[in-house]
Amino acid sequence: MGNAIDIRLESLVKPATPGVAAANSATSAVAEQARGTFFLETFGCQMNEHDSEKVAGVLLARGYRQVETPEAASLILYNTCSIREKAAQKVFSRLGVYRDILGKEQKIGVLGCVAQQEGEAIFSRAPWVSLVCGSASYRNLPQMLAQLEAGAERVTGLDNDTDETFETEVTRRDNPWRAYITIIEGCDKACAYCVVPFTRGPERSRDSARVLSELRQLAERGYSEVQFLGQTVNSYADPSPRKMRFSQLLVESAQVPGIRRVRFTTSHPRDFTPDIVAAIETHPAICNHVHLPVQSGSSRVLRAMQRTYSRAEYLEKIAMIRGARRQTAITTDIIVGFPGETEAEFDETLSLLDEVKYEGVFSFKYSPRPNTPATSMPDAIPEEEKSRRLALLQEKQRAIQVNTLQKLAGEIFEVHVDGASKKENQWYGHSSCNRVVNFSSSKSDLLGEYVAVRVNGCTPNSLLGEHVVRPL
Ligand code: SAM
Ligand code: SF4
Repeated sequence: MGNAIDIRLESLVKPATPGVAAANSATSAVAEQARGTFFLETFGCQMNEHDSEKVAGVLLARGYRQVETPEAASLILYNTCSIREKAAQKVFSRLGVYRDILGKEQKIGVLGCVAQQEGEAIFSRAPWVSLVCGSASYRNLPQMLAQLEAGAERVTGLDNDTDETFETEVTRRDNPWRAYITIIEGCDKACAYCVVPFTRGPERSRDSARVLSELRQLAERGYSEVQFLGQTVNSYADPSPRKMRFSQLLVESAQVPGIRRVRFTTSHPRDFTPDIVAAIETHPAICNHVHLPVQSGSSRVLRAMQRTYSRAEYLEKIAMIRGARRQTAITTDIIVGFPGETEAEFDETLSLLDEVKYEGVFSFKYSPRPNTPATSMPDAIPEEEKSRRLALLQEKQRAIQVNTLQKLAGEIFEVHVDGASKKENQWYGHSSCNRVVNFSSSKSDLLGEYVAVRVNGCTPNSLLGEHVVRPL
């Protein structure tokens, strides 16, 4: 990677470091020959958020200026998510809203998973759209923008079979404290319910040297916390001759001067190996949090979902993580009401919650997705029944979480401060194990700092505490 320009939102920036100031002035120099303005709206996961950061960087470097409202933009971009139902419907209704405000000189682009899924059909249903671009085509964005600027009415980027990743020298980062770095794009896992392999294309890992170079540049600009992203981040397979393992990449990243925290998400249970646990155990800068989606507690349902592991095999991975000397928080994703899921099988998912005692669960009602094998499976579960199961699961998990968090009273956590609450002297941030910690402090200007917080209470989803002054 060459000299990446890294642009942060002014409003969030700590007092500018020389590197940031130089990057911003380089950007404004380009912006002098302004090509136009853009408004970018994003839905979906962290991968989508980060894709939008890269897209924004490409536009800024091209001389566009970002604006706060669609009305003020010459180019309106909508980065979409199609992981659950009614995604396309929602996108078309949003596009209807944009149509109503659209002036003569304005253009609209649809990006991301719905763009890839619906393809050129978007032009028929919403003829006022000028750009349809899936995530596997973002690397061609400069050429697509050039076509739009030259007056093209319909531009598409719908590659879905590429071995290339989106390498850009210009990323506009929204968060001044935690920087995302995509290390692997796409997914080859083919879970029976999931659209991601269709919308994001095959698995492609980035060269480890490029990842490490991006990381070093971030550290030089003052970032101390990074988060590696991938739909199955631990399936990382370095395409360079170094053939670095995922755990090696974590270890080398944790040793970069200035880097204090390295996170990663999402891990696939099949590829969660002992060397990753060993890396977390021996390198405090690798965060002690693993997001390990299980999806169901029933081996029969897991087989139908094509998840490639049984309940027992998943529990072996949990035992491996829990067996380490360093305690690691584990969170998960669960789908209820997969076709054919019986009451007894759902009970197995509930019992898994008791057995694992997750620190957090993202739970979803199964939602049929186009092109996926699960849509044609028999014995669909009625919507009300899915809702009932979801509510039961969430109630159980809430009780487990409160119980776990209550036991942490008196413990001291290192908190990376993300924000100030509206209430005076109240702050919030994250621990290494990714717990949200709300705390009081008489100190001012804690944003971006690492502080010690003693826990004195909790809510179902966060810890409460007070800042204690002691060296970390
Ligand atoms: N790659 C990750 C993994 O293997 O778990 C997660 C990717 S997906 C963006 C995030 C979560 O959405 C999944 O873990 C799953 O729980 C949920 N999800 C995906 N497809 C779904 C569907 N058709 N219905 C309901 N939930 C779904
Ligand atoms: Fe979807 Fe499965 Fe790939 Fe995760 S691993 S993105 S759930 S296909």
